[in-house]
Amino acid sequence: MSTELAAIAYLVAAVLFIVGLTRLSSPATARSGNRLAAIGMLVAVVVTLLDTGILDYVWIVVGLVVGTAIGAVLARTVAMTSMPELVAVFNGLGGGASALVAASAFLAVPGGNELVTLLTLALSVLVGSVTFTGSLVAYGKLAGRIPGRPVTFPGQVVVDGVLALGALVAVGWFTATGEPIVLWALGGIALVLGLTRVFPIGGGDMPVVIAFLNSLSGIAASMAGFALDSSILIIAGALVGASGLILTGIMVRAMNRTLVGVLAGGFGGDDSSGGGGTIGDRPVRRGTAEDLAIVLAYADSVVIVPGYGLAVAQAQHALRDLADELGSRGVEVRYAIHPVAGRMPGHMNVLLAEADVSYDLLHELDDVNPDMARTDVALVVGANDVVNPAAREDPGSPIYGMPIVDVDRARHAIVIKRSLSPGFAGIDNPLFYEENTSMFFADAKSALEDLTREVKQA
Ligand code: NDP
Repeated sequence: MSTELAAIAYLVAAVLFIVGLTRLSSPATARSGNRLAAIGMLVAVVVTLLDTGILDYVWIVVGLVVGTAIGAVLARTVAMTSMPELVAVFNGLGGGASALVAASAFLAVPGGNELVTLLTLALSVLVGSVTFTGSLVAYGKLAGRIPGRPVTFPGQVVVDGVLALGALVAVGWFTATGEPIVLWALGGIALVLGLTRVFPIGGGDMPVVIAFLNSLSGIAASMAGFALDSSILIIAGALVGASGLILTGIMVRAMNRTLVGVLAGGFGGDDSSGGGGTIGDRPVRRGTAEDLAIVLAYADSVVIVPGYGLAVAQAQHALRDLADELGSRGVEVRYAIHPVAGRMPGHMNVLLAEADVSYDLLHELDDVNPDMARTDVALVVGANDVVNPAAREDPGSPIYGMPIVDVDRARHAIVIKRSLSPGFAGIDNPLFYEENTSMFFADAKSALEDLTREVKQA
């Protein structure tokens, strides 16, 4: 393949990535955006295979077959609630692959590399290796295979400081000398640094860490692109790096954290929202399907706040049925989507899209909160932290300052969950004990089905 043709094909692939990424900004265009970016990736892979004078395709084909088989099985079988773990693994593999590509590029021509090439090789190995082990720890924490609480040891800060300094010295040394042993040492230090940096970060901050590691995996790929003189790798890596950083920014704001605070660690406990738990000592008002259905059926306006429990119960279709039933009775139904509801960015949008809920009905906090006092019923389905008024009112609360959906300001709040167990942040929720709150203790799916049945009879 001629160099000009390859350059044009890479340009087409880059344009497809950028257009695809832009279309991801709205749920209505996200699917086609994903498809365009995938086509761009196919073009890039095919051109790379034809372009770089590969001598032997055997291992490439083996890798393709094994990787495709694993990817296809994972994509089809992974539960929606386990998606963040899968993303963590993908990030880790992306970072590890970039480090290996950079190392093998160096091995292919150990001598004769320019200074800037050596620098980018070293940075790719550093960032890629940190991303690899850091992502594996993030995966372990989210999957419950290692403790979600911050894991620290005495002298942690000193050890991290020494490792970080050692890594920087190794980058400088390798750039100046091109000594292979320094590159391997750098890789080793970076692998340990990934472990020691992510272990002290609590499970509650893992989503931010995963978004940040995603960004790092892009940066590692971009650095490898510089070392290989591959424009498409530079562009693709830069796009992942930049979008990962933007997502990190959105998430730290939505959780009222700072990136530095998250990376410093020590915050956030186990994911305790798995269920069970007992009802506390304070009295709550319990509702039954019959009386809550009447409240809903005779309301003028209902705001539905979905959360993690909706995903666990896979109750999105049941929720839509209830909303449709209410809508057919003339009730104005809207959905309030909190940016960190669920366990991954966009979790609720994906779930509701699966149930064909119209995008026009989905509203951000700024849209619904000003109207909340005029809303008859706020129906909370499996959400907890994102509707916790302590975030607004209690400066001592760990989630103080996190924006929430102000359901406590609605005329009536109905909360569907199985018990008074806390959510992800592991803290109690004063909303449950309010005068105008009715608790409906049940699995979200069966509760919604019961409510729909009763509304039909109301
Ligand atoms: P929460 O984790 O705060 O609460 C979920 C609630 O769902 C639990 O209290 C649980 O109560 C209930 N629940 C679980 N299973 C069911 C079921 N089958 N039926 C009914 N209810 C059920 O969820 P939110 O969505 O309100 O908040 C998300 C939290 O996760 C935030 O703290 C956020 O920071 C964090 N986070 C967000 C990520 C993201 O990117 N979106 C990623 C990772 C964490 P019970 O057991 O009593 O039923």
